[in-house]
Amino acid sequence: MLLKGKTAVISGAASARGIGRATARLFAEHGARVAILDLDGAGAAQAAAELGPDHAGLACDVADPASCRQAAERAIAALGQVDILINNAGISQPMKTMEIGPEDWRRIVDVNMTGVLLLSQAFIPHMRERRQGSIACMSSVSAQRGGGIFGGPHYSAAKAGVLGLAKAMARELGPDGIRVNSVTPGLIQTDITGGKLTDEMRADILKGIPLNRLGDTIDVARIYLFLASDLSSYVTGAVIDVNGGMLIH
Ligand code: NAD
Repeated sequence: MLLKGKTAVISGAASARGIGRATARLFAEHGARVAILDLDGAGAAQAAAELGPDHAGLACDVADPASCRQAAERAIAALGQVDILINNAGISQPMKTMEIGPEDWRRIVDVNMTGVLLLSQAFIPHMRERRQGSIACMSSVSAQRGGGIFGGPHYSAAKAGVLGLAKAMARELGPDGIRVNSVTPGLIQTDITGGKLTDEMRADILKGIPLNRLGDTIDVARIYLFLASDLSSYVTGAVIDVNGGMLIH
């Protein structure tokens, strides 16, 4: 029980086979009360109900500041306090540079990068007041190796931005007792690829993974658990790879 008595907010945790959902389950198993925030409000409520009566599911668009503020107020009211924020929500698009239109760019950057800022801003005053908190942010191996897995260059740019943002927040918020870290997964088997990952692409990707398998959502959930818990009490500004060795650097 690594999170006994703790409370956690996880964004993008409604989708049934997603990383956020697996994280919510693992955190609950470790004793945390969880608030699931997702664009899919009904899905969030259902996911929370599946965890049990102590958990909450709330609609939230991480790309919208007012929606983040409102969800934060509700999450704090539902949980009493918030110890952990997992900035997990994200979307992807397999596109090449010349195919990216202004709206594609905006949406990918807004959800994947700006969303991390907006949701963090909604919880930082509360964490500062309590002089404690752990924030973990979802980046991607795409940020480190320049894409080439599934998401396009705009996804790669947004996820690279998350790394800079999280490191800068770690530096700024450390004196307030708030830790901020990032995770950089390789290809994890979820629905984010929207059925567009062909068997050929999968076989090609496998050739470059020393552990010889794609990642499972639990592989990432366990790293979020480490970052959320006191096991990582002296870790801030860190980036943890969860990629089976796809990128060793
Ligand atoms: P997923 O599609 O299963 O889950 C993403 C969730 O985010 C969904 O529940 C969706 O409704 C929610 N969401 C989308 N836009 C949102 C918004 N504006 N506000 C709030 N919620 C929103 O995908 P996943 O693979 O579990 O992805 C989770 C995170 O992991 C994403 O940030 C993704 O970029 C990142 N990631 C995934 C992989 C992978 O291979 N699956 C690899 C590296 C990083």
